[in-house]
Amino acid sequence: MRLEKDHDRCIGAGQCVRTDPRIFDQDDDGLVKVLIERPRGADEAAAHKAVFICPAKALSLAED
Ligand code: SF4
Repeated sequence: MRLEKDHDRCIGAGQCVRTDPRIFDQDDDGLVKVLIERPRGADEAAAHKAVFICPAKALSLAED
């Protein structure tokens, strides 16, 4: 699975970072930065949660 972000949609709400700060960070403008592009195991579960809770639908998981 590959974790993808859409900066055009991201509103900098930060829920993804609060879900797992090892996987997500925010740049100086507050936009999401993905730190682990291919999450596995527990990281993949956290990524799914972040995709679900992002209010802007700016995150997605795609098959490799
Ligand atoms: S990806 Fe979603 S949850 Fe993360 S900062 Fe952007 S809008 Fe907020």
